[in-house]
Amino acid sequence: MNKFPKPNVVVSKCLGFARCRYDGKIVFDTIVRRLRPFVNFIPVCPETEIGLGIPRDTIRIISYRGKLHLYQPSTDKDLTRQMIQFTKRYLASLKDVDGFILKSRSPSCGINHVKIYYSYQLNAKPKMGKGFFASAVKNKYPYLVIVDESGLKNLARRENFFTKIFSLARFRMLERDIKESKYPLSKIFLNPFPKELIEISDLRKNRNK
Ligand code: SF4
Repeated sequence: MNKFPKPNVVVSKCLGFARCRYDGKIVFDTIVRRLRPFVNFIPVCPETEIGLGIPRDTIRIISYRGKLHLYQPSTDKDLTRQMIQFTKRYLASLKDVDGFILKSRSPSCGINHVKIYYSYQLNAKPKMGKGFFASAVKNKYPYLVIVDESGLKNLARRENFFTKIFSLARFRMLERDIKESKYPLSKIFLNPFPKELIEISDLRKNRNK
């Protein structure tokens, strides 16, 4: 029987991997914990990567003159440039990633329902949007499945996530086997367009977009 391939999944580090939240806490998520034996997790904490300490004062997203800023009110620091630079560098370094599980509602990792303030005033009323890191992830990987830990509690979304990450891992293994000529050539001659090859070809096209 073939070895079952493990998907590569980038995960917010505070979801059970380190006490890196702004308050020095960790979030123990049951689904992430149960997935550990079956997935190659790649934990990352964008806020500590840009030099913020643990614990740290909270940061928020401000929309000012049509641009989004990552801002720490207590220190009056604008962290936008550091976060954009780190995110670009980090995403460029990733190889063969099959999906993302990010922490909900964080100004860095949140994929939606993140507070965006339209004024630097502390009592400003927020609207909802995406976190800085999550937004860059979505732009770079529009074809990958990106969820937060609260989304994984929904059965349909969880099944969709599992199906996609395990299928992608399987395709990668098949692609590697073809390169290493483990895919029987007789099969290709008998059927020049096997389903797996067509799917891999589509996947590669999307990855290269
Ligand atoms: S939500 Fe993201 S930035 Fe915030 S502590 Fe967790 S991993 Fe770090």
